[in-house]
Amino acid sequence: MKKIAVFTSGGDAPGMNAAIRAVVRGAIYHNLKVCGIVKGYQGMIDNDIHDMDSYSVSNILQRGGTILKSARCDEFRTSEGRKKAYDNLQKHNIDALVAIGGDGSFTGANIFYKEYGVPIIGVPGTIDNDIFGSDQTIGFDTAVNTALDAIDKIRDTADSHGRIFFVEVMGRDSGYIAIQSAIGGGAESVILPEKRATPDDVVRHLMNKREKTFSVVVVSEKEVSGNSIILAEKVKESLPDRDIRVSILGHMQRGGTPSAQDRTLASRLGLAAVEALIEGKKDMMVGIISNKLAFTSFFDSISHPKPIDDDLIRTMKILSI
Ligand code: ADP
Repeated sequence: MKKIAVFTSGGDAPGMNAAIRAVVRGAIYHNLKVCGIVKGYQGMIDNDIHDMDSYSVSNILQRGGTILKSARCDEFRTSEGRKKAYDNLQKHNIDALVAIGGDGSFTGANIFYKEYGVPIIGVPGTIDNDIFGSDQTIGFDTAVNTALDAIDKIRDTADSHGRIFFVEVMGRDSGYIAIQSAIGGGAESVILPEKRATPDDVVRHLMNKREKTFSVVVVSEKEVSGNSIILAEKVKESLPDRDIRVSILGHMQRGGTPSAQDRTLASRLGLAAVEALIEGKKDMMVGIISNKLAFTSFFDSISHPKPIDDDLIRTMKILSI
């Protein structure tokens, strides 16, 4: 193996740049040539592939987003698209890949490996923390901190006016951001995609806390953002005397300076991905389990859900009495 390429794919996450830097510098340290592919699988198909050196990744560690850009690419879902991608990798003599992204990106990587045998190691980068095979994903810690910052501010105004606030956070299929920001933000209640709570459940919960003059309810978004608006309207029907407001945090959770934890995680995983390729590993992702590097096949990673730890749910329940 002489030359590898790195790309970011799917939803972006703070800390992806730190992972790119670690891949590029790790490769150079091990005497490998390294390329960056712009816009993930789309760039592979469009031949948007460029040599990188140590200076290409200077001063990016602390920046949110991804210098390699990201994209969702439907053409890569077709065998014709993947053939074009493979031909372009051949043109650049690329022997192996590091894919930084979420489970969709890993699904594409798994199919591509099966078809063309190009060794690929995945690095889990997604704010949702929904990847089986890693306790944490790159960007999750930063996203929770962003949500917490907003919740703290909302609590101030909720307190001043005695309001009930529904704060909607990201995480369509996974309530990790919701549960951690609810615990950290001292919320009265949390609505998770994993647990089917109805508006009546929320009302009952809030009625039990009538002595509280204000409340914050953290709500995970659903298929489209706006889940909290529908919920707030239904709750208002049962609690007409209460002043109820909604705040949808939205894409601010995807951006910003990565936290210390995300920078360290991304740096460790990026370097480990390169070293795994050198050792001959392929078709798997590298994660962190109990603070140690851990490898999980793409197949296992994409076919297992990562349920929320019951201990988090219990902690939330007890502390929000
Ligand atoms: P994430 O990696 O954040 O989960 P997506 O689900 O959007 O993001 O996936 C990123 C990209 O991975 C898609 O745009 C597509 O190019 C590729 N991909 C996802 N699923 C498949 C699949 N079944 N076959 C081929 N490529 C796929």
